[in-house]
Amino acid sequence: MKLTSYWLDTAPSFVASPAAAMPGMVDAVIVGGGFSGLSAALRLRELGASVVVLERERVVGEASGRNGGHVNNGLAGSFSMACKTMGEDKATALYKVFNKAVDTVETIISTHAIACDFVRCGKLKVGNLPAHHAALQADYEQLCKSADPDVRLISYAQIHDELRSDLFNNGLIYPHSGRMHMGRFGVGLAQAVLKAGGLIFENTPMISIKFGQGCFEVITPQGKIVAKSVLMATGTSRHAPSWFRQRIMPVGSFIVATEPMDAATLKQVMPGGQNVVTMQNIHNYFRATADNRLIFGGRASFSRSRTTTDIVSGHMLLAAMRRTLPDLPDVKVEYCWGGDVDMTVDRLPRAGQWNGIYYTMGYSGHGTQMSVYMGQRMAEAMAGMPDTNPLAGRSWPKIPFYGLASYVLPVVGAYYRAKDYVQNFRA
Ligand SMILES: Cc1cc2nc3c(=O)[nH]c(=O)nc-3n(C[C@H](O)[C@H](O)[C@H](O)COP(=O)(O)OP(=O)(O)OC[C@H]3O[C@@H](n4cnc5c(N)ncnc54)[C@H](O)[C@@H]3O)c2cc1C
Repeated sequence: MKLTSYWLDTAPSFVASPAAAMPGMVDAVIVGGGFSGLSAALRLRELGASVVVLERERVVGEASGRNGGHVNNGLAGSFSMACKTMGEDKATALYKVFNKAVDTVETIISTHAIACDFVRCGKLKVGNLPAHHAALQADYEQLCKSADPDVRLISYAQIHDELRSDLFNNGLIYPHSGRMHMGRFGVGLAQAVLKAGGLIFENTPMISIKFGQGCFEVITPQGKIVAKSVLMATGTSRHAPSWFRQRIMPVGSFIVATEPMDAATLKQVMPGGQNVVTMQNIHNYFRATADNRLIFGGRASFSRSRTTTDIVSGHMLLAAMRRTLPDLPDVKVEYCWGGDVDMTVDRLPRAGQWNGIYYTMGYSGHGTQMSVYMGQRMAEAMAGMPDTNPLAGRSWPKIPFYGLASYVLPVVGAYYRAKDYVQNFRA
C-alpha cells in the first residue's frame, strides 16, 4: 500500500519556468498554490495584472491534491435546513453558486485543454435511517420548489439500480455533479498560469506580511516582494496569520484507492456510476476512476497525527468499504492517504478582506469547485472590478477554544461513531 495520494502519484510533474528570479514588485501576490490560489492567479493574468504565487511546498500538494475527487454541486449539508437557518432566498442563491462553480471548473478544463477525465456523473446521497429518509424527502421537495428541479428521489425499490449495497434504503440524485482527476487538473491549472505569464514559486513560504506605503510587503526566504494586493489562499491556514488560524479547524479525512478492476465488475457494484456520499454522522464518500479503481474516503482514525495514522485509517476504510459494498471482489488497496479539511463552524466557506488582505478558504470538505470559482471572484475584486463575492458580508467569529479543538476532536469522533452504531443497531 503506497502512503501517498493517488492523484499526486499519477499526475504529470509540474514543470516550473526556468529559474525565474523573485520580482521585487508585482500587482498581486497569491499565498497558496492550491485550486483557490491558482485559479485566482489565472484570472488575474487574464485581467492583465502581474502575479506571483508563493507555495510553501508543491502546487496542489495539500487538500487540492489529496481529496476524494468529487466535484459535486449543491450544499455540503441539508438544503431544507439551510433554508430554515439563512432563509430560502439566500440558500437558493448559494446553491446556485455551487452549480456555477462546477460550470467554472468545466469551462477552465475545456479552455485550457486540461486532460483530467472530467465527467458529469451525478451525485447519489444515501441514507438508511427513517431520519435520513425524512431529510432527503424534505430536501427533495424544497430543491424542486426553489433551486434544482432535476434532483431525483430514489426509493427503497430503486436503490439497487444505482448502488449494490444493503446498507441503504433511500437516496437523492443530484445529476449536475461531476468528478475529475484532481492531480491532473491541478497541474494543468498551474501550467496554464505559467503559460499566461504568471510566476509560481514552490518551496517558498510567505513568512510574514506587513502593510506600508499604500502596499503590502511580503517576506519570503528568497526576499521581499512589494504588492498592491495579496490573497491568502492558504487552506487550513496553519501557516497563515493567527486571525485565520483562529477561525479554521483542520480536520483529518482519509482515503484509499483500490487497484484497477475490470469495468464490468465496477459497473455491477455501482450501476448508477455516481459519486456516492453516505449520511451517517461518520460518513463515507466514494467514486470510480477512469481506470476503474474505487476511491473510498471518510473519517477513520481520530488521532491528532495524520502521517502516522494513515495505515491504521487505511485498514479502517478497507473494512468500511467491504461492509458498504459486499459484492466488491477481493481487490487490493494500492493507495492510502490523508488530508486536512479546512473546517468552519457552520461548514460554509468564507471570503473577503481582513486588514486589506483578501482571503478565500473554509470550504469544509466541499471545495473542489468553490475554490476554483472563488479564486476567480477574489481576483476580480483585487483587479478593481465590481465585487461579485457571493460570500461577502458573512460574519466569521473565532472558533471557541480553538487551541483546544484538536484535543477535543478524538472524543467528539468517538461519540459520533458510537451514535452511528446505536442508531444502526436500532434500525
Ligand atoms: C481528504 C479530503 C477530501 C476532500 N474531498 C473533497 C471532495 O471529494 N469534494 C470536494 O468538493 N472537496 C473535497 N475536499 C476539499 C477540497 O479539496 C478543498 O476545499 C480545496 O481543494 C481547497 O483548495 P485551496 O486551494 O483553498 O486549499 P489547499 O489545496 O489546501 O491549498 C492551500 C495551499 O496553501 C499553501 N500554503 C499555506 N500556507 C502557506 C504560506 N504561509 N506560504 C505559502 N503557501 C502556503 C499550502 O501548502 C497549500 O498548498 C476534500 C479535502 C480533503 C482534505
